[in-house]
Amino acid sequence: MKAPDFEYVKVASLDEAFGELERRGESAQIISGGQSLMAMLNLRLAAPGCLVDIGGLPGLGEIRRDGDVVRVGALVTHRQLEESAEIAASVPLLAQAVPHVAHLAIRNAGTIGGSLALADPAAEYPAIALALEATIVVQGTGGVRRIAAADYFQGFYRTAREPQEILVGVEFPVRHPNERAHFSELARRRGDYAMVGLAALLRFDAGIVSRARLAFLAVGDRPVLATQAMAALQGRALDAQATRAAQDALARDLDPGGDLQADPATKKHLARVLLGRALDHLRQTA
Ligand SMILES: Cc1cc2nc3c(=O)[nH]c(=O)nc-3n(C[C@H](O)[C@H](O)[C@H](O)COP(=O)(O)OP(=O)(O)OC[C@H]3O[C@@H](n4cnc5c(N)ncnc54)[C@H](O)[C@@H]3O)c2cc1C
Repeated sequence: MKAPDFEYVKVASLDEAFGELERRGESAQIISGGQSLMAMLNLRLAAPGCLVDIGGLPGLGEIRRDGDVVRVGALVTHRQLEESAEIAASVPLLAQAVPHVAHLAIRNAGTIGGSLALADPAAEYPAIALALEATIVVQGTGGVRRIAAADYFQGFYRTAREPQEILVGVEFPVRHPNERAHFSELARRRGDYAMVGLAALLRFDAGIVSRARLAFLAVGDRPVLATQAMAALQGRALDAQATRAAQDALARDLDPGGDLQADPATKKHLARVLLGRALDHLRQTA
């Protein structure tokens, strides 16, 4: 199939983009890398009257450390993240996840802003943002809003961003020296969307888990924080009993629906396996 007809405007500034969005109302849609949207158009899952292209806007394509935070512009591509020494050093959980996003050709053009705006529950970055307690930055004519990841993802492809707002960046906290990160996922083929994935972050103080963040992808209508499994690890040494306790608690955290990839029981089983593997890995590297 081919995309339906649409108008196309390439804007030169955020103000111009806001103007187009306001003037055209619901018929306008932002396009960044086009790696999700063009497929949706070709499949006729979307039919905007006009694409407002923000690709190339100055100031949105940078990765910059600012004290305890790494600011990533919305137009930073997956590939830029993959090649960034700053991301590898300061946000290793994100660095580990990027190679799992699609294929190289898609990573060359697709952007972190596009992924977080789309909020596919099987995508990697929403779970990373939730695990790391990142802040999503959106901007509209009313100014800038900074939204905690926990409040930003609101449902199936639904976020706290208003339609007239543009996602302009995301802020990740710089890793704590005692923190260990592990990202893993199970996909049918490398580069496919995951059947289940896990972004895991543990902080250790004198061998004891002092903070645990476990965010799963592809097990619900948005990224899911496994709060009971996190609580089961808190204040304990990361031994085999702690791992089993977290895996048992995880059964109460997750209530996945089935999808084209796997039924609910399979997803729960795969999530338990991923958690066990992640904790084994983190124990060995702690
Ligand atoms: C074969 C294939 C496999 C893929 N596999 C994966 C995968 O495993 N994991 C994964 O995470 N992704 C995957 N993707 C999606 C890919 O990562 C996209 O790059 C990403 O989801 C969207 O980024 P984009 O810049 O291309 O956004 P676009 O396609 O340009 O836009 C996507 C949506 O976000 C909106 N949007 C874009 N930018 C902004 C912004 N700054 N502010 C507000 N709204 C905005 C658009 O209006 C649109 O609704 C895959 C895609 C394909 C085609």
